[in-house]
Amino acid sequence: MTPRLELKSVTRRFDGQPVVDGIDLTLRAGEVACLLGPSGCGKSTTLRLAAGVDSPDGGEVLIDGEVVADGRRNLPPEHRSIGLMFQDFALFPHLDVARNVAFGLSGGKAEQMARVTELLGKVGLAGYEGKFPHQLSGGEQQRVALARALAPRPAIMLMDEPFSGLDKRLRDGIRDETLDILREEGTAVLLVTHEPDEAMRMADKIALMRNGRIVQVGNPYSVYTKPVDKEAAAFFSDIN
Ligand code: ADP
Ligand code: MG
Repeated sequence: MTPRLELKSVTRRFDGQPVVDGIDLTLRAGEVACLLGPSGCGKSTTLRLAAGVDSPDGGEVLIDGEVVADGRRNLPPEHRSIGLMFQDFALFPHLDVARNVAFGLSGGKAEQMARVTELLGKVGLAGYEGKFPHQLSGGEQQRVALARALAPRPAIMLMDEPFSGLDKRLRDGIRDETLDILREEGTAVLLVTHEPDEAMRMADKIALMRNGRIVQVGNPYSVYTKPVDKEAAAFFSDIN
């Protein structure tokens, strides 16, 4: 089956320094893949290249088998069938919840509102249509951001440390709920995190990243039990 998303030898340099240094990564339909690595290793830059908000210096990005970036052309994010979620939820402060969630939707008003209602139900915020972002807790804002990202039914969800701004108490529950919803919607997920336990908890596949490169790929169990080297073992050693 053609992968949903594929990065082939993707590179990105800043000031001559490779920050993403020949990344190969495959994301299949229905899969949850985690890009895991320490701060500064190039995870966010990789995700931005996948999203199309930045363009690679070399290599190719493919979506459903089609080249969307190859160093010459770069298909913009709005044409990639992707949803994006970041640590800062960046809801539009002047729009109510319904209009935030409906923001990326086309079609008739009634159809849009039906999707908004459906998604607010899914994220546990039924009846929140008329509230404004400042009236919501951090966890609630994150749920609205999830609903907004899912509204246009993206085939791929790209998430950059979406839970790290949340209270630790809330985090586990929201992680699990988010995964359930993404699986229900059939969305393939590429999740960036620097926390091994988050990757272990959420991923079907972990790609371990270091200094702009992927040093190991495998399911959580194999990456945890058979680390590629001492540095990888040390990185996982915090998990209990
Ligand atoms: P991570 O998400 O893994 O913490 P990033 O992808 O954000 O890492 O950054 C990797 C490296 O690239 C860092 O050293 C960062 O300072 C550098 N970098 C990221 N974006 C830019 C940019 N626009 N210009 C210059 N350097 C950048
Ligand atoms: Mg980052």
